[in-house]
Formats: sequence, C-alpha cells, structure tokens
Amino acid sequence: MPRQPTAPTGESPRPAPCVLLKPGETFLKGRNRERFEQRLQDNLRYALRGVGGSTWIRTTQSVTVLGGQVPVAELVERARRVIGFSVVEPAVRVPSTVEDIGATVLDALDGLRAGRPGLTFAVRARRRDKDFPLTSTQLERHVGGVVHETLGLPVDLRTPDVRVSVEVGRHETYLSWERHKGQGGLPVGSGGRALVLLSGGYDSPVAAYRAMRRGLRCDFVHFTGAPYTNASSVYKAYALARELNRYQPGGRLHVVALGTAQKQLAVAGAGKLQVIAQRRLMIRTASALARRTGAEAVVTGDSLGQVASQTLANMATIDEAASLPVLRPLLGWEKQEIIDEARAIGTAAVSVLPDEDCCKLLAPERVTTRARVPDVQRVEKRLDMDEVIEGLLRNAQCLRPGADEEGHGS
Ligand code: ATP
Ligand code: MG
Repeated sequence: MPRQPTAPTGESPRPAPCVLLKPGETFLKGRNRERFEQRLQDNLRYALRGVGGSTWIRTTQSVTVLGGQVPVAELVERARRVIGFSVVEPAVRVPSTVEDIGATVLDALDGLRAGRPGLTFAVRARRRDKDFPLTSTQLERHVGGVVHETLGLPVDLRTPDVRVSVEVGRHETYLSWERHKGQGGLPVGSGGRALVLLSGGYDSPVAAYRAMRRGLRCDFVHFTGAPYTNASSVYKAYALARELNRYQPGGRLHVVALGTAQKQLAVAGAGKLQVIAQRRLMIRTASALARRTGAEAVVTGDSLGQVASQTLANMATIDEAASLPVLRPLLGWEKQEIIDEARAIGTAAVSVLPDEDCCKLLAPERVTTRARVPDVQRVEKRLDMDEVIEGLLRNAQCLRPGADEEGHGS
C-alpha cells in the first residue's frame, strides 16, 4: 500500500481534513520523550493497517497530526484505539492567514447551526507561531466577531455548545470543534513485555488491557483441560486475544493443554490443594514460557478475595512457584468494576459465552483458602516438574489472533 512518509509541506490550498492526536500523560517530558513518541507513532501506523487509502503522520511539539486519502471518521475510529493518546480531534488544516481561519470557522458553524436554534459558541486560539500578526486573544475576538456578525450566533465563553479550537502554526493552522476521548495511558511497548494468563472469564482480559495501558506489550497464554475438555475455551481465548490486539500490535496466543498434568496432580493426592497446585503449575509454565519469549513478567486477572483461590495466603503460595514477577492489575477491583470495563473495551461479549474451563476439571468440593507451600510441594514432588513443564511447552501451540485481518476496523 503506498504511503507518504510525511505530510505534504507548504500551504494547503483548501481546508483539508485531518485528525489531531494528543498524548495524556507527562511522559512526553524529559529524556524518554523521543522514544515514547516514536513508539506511539509506530503503534498508530500499525493501527492504520489496511485502512484502504494512503495516510501520513507527523508529530510536532507533542501533537500528532494524521491525515490521508481516508475518511476522517475512519481515521478517528482507528486512532481512538491507540493507547497513549488521550484526545482525538477531527480537524481541518488551513493556511495560517486570518482570512482563511475566519472563513473556515464561519463555514463550519454555518453547518453546525442547522436545526439548532440558539446555538452558542466560543473560540479558543493558541499560537505556536509567534510571528502571526495577531495575538491569541486578538484572533479569538476577530474570529468570534466574524461569526457573531455574519451568523448572529451568541458567544458563550463558559459553557458554549461548540468550542472552536484554533491552533496556529507557522505554515498551517488546525481548526477543530469536536473532541473524542482516546484510550490514554502509556504507549504499548514503552514499558517492556509481559505474558498474560488469559482464561475465558471477565477478569484476565481486563487485566491485560490495564497492563497494556501501562506500556506493557502483551502476549497471552491460555491453559485448556485437553484432552479432557473440548476446544470451546480456546475459541474464547482466541476471540479475546483478537479483541485485545485491537489495542496493541499483534500479541501472540500460546495454548497449553494441561489436562494430563492436572490428572497427574490429582493422582498424586492433591485433594483440597488441587486448584492451588494447578495454579502453581500454570504460573510455573507461564514463567518458563515468558523467559523463552522475552517477556519480563506474568500478568493475571486475580482480585484479592474474589474467590477462594484468590486469598492472600493462596496468592503467596502461587507466587512461590513463579520465577518472574507476577503482576495483578485488578488486585483491588470489585467484580462489577471489572465487568463494566470489560464491556467498555469490548471483551465482555466474549467472556459471557459458555466454555469448558480447565479449572473446573478435577476441582474439589471445597478449595482451601490457606494453602501452604510445603503441603503443595509434597504433592508436586511425586511428579517430575521440570519434565512436566518441558512437555507442556513442547506441545504448546502458538497462534496469532487478528493477524489475518486487514485492519482494526469494526
Ligand atoms: P477470570 O474471569 O479471568 O477467568 P476468575 O475470576 O475466573 O478469573 P480464576 O479462575 O481464579 O478467577 O483465575 C484467576 C486468574 O488465573 C485468571 O484471571 C487468569 O489470569 C488465570 N487463569 C485461570 N484460569 C486460566 C486458564 N485456563 N488459562 C490461563 N490463565 C488462567
Ligand atoms: Mg476463570
């Protein structure tokens, strides 16, 4: 697909649509700024894959401008998925002259006032180019005056229906009157890489999203009860990972069949410790996989006290089996908060589907809330753990959810 590396330079003859993208956090200050900006641009470029027309991206003074031969609505849709931008503003570019600015704002408000009697407005100007003949305040007054006199619309500086923003640059000026919330957060990949334990529930996809929002690029591992369960949980994990990959450049999904090892633990007499022993096996396997694939931490969807297996004592016993830090972004979240966020990010519709979950396989009547490490180790010693893990990883499948899709559009 042809793509111009930079924006067309010089003055644009007519108002040209584009999108302004603004980062939220202060990460753009200080030494890391260039690295973060670069990462953000790469991720944006990735999110534009298959958009169906040439696009260009340019960043000056922390504001990224996106344009191209693609409808602005589509660009906005794509950009709103990119973690790291907190504001996404459809805009038009005009030459930096008082006349062009005034005429374009007038045109825009003329269109916006249709069917909205009494529409109020305000103009906010910012000069990036200090050579511009008017100060910001003078420009605001001038443009506001033109609109007021020509269209008769009242100015309301405090709570206007339409807030027109004017950003004056040396060659061109950006005009906008609509703002969308972006994802916010830190650019995915700027904080390193993690491996997320992805089940089919609500929690782990939200945990993954939160990890991504703190800059971690995520791969996923899903454990199935195969050969004792069907493939339904794999389909769910795949669909969840594909949904999550809309927010980051292609994370991989590793699928590990745990059923036989789960049975071995049961035969070894795990009893009430079965669930914790399984969870330790998952963490151990995930740590080994993370190390092999270059991830520096594992992430789970645990929330303290949510279920019996997630007491502090049990978490500590599970972590003892980890060889990398275990991150739990949802530790202090309530279930309803998690479900609300799952809906917002688009994973809830998948999580709600039924599946055969490996955790229910061989689960005892009651799960202990205080599993102790030595007790679980007594069970584990009856297996050759290293060999078990080696076997699990040898037979793991690696999938690329979403890689087949042209783009990220809905
Ligand atoms: P979720 O809604 O994410 O399934 P949950 O409330 O069902 O969580 P548990 O089943 O106790 O809680 O799992 C806790 C965490 O352990 C999950 O959030 C996930 O990170 C990990 N986990 C559980 N089962 C699996 C699995 N089959 N594959 C991968 N990770 C899993
Ligand atoms: Mg679960």
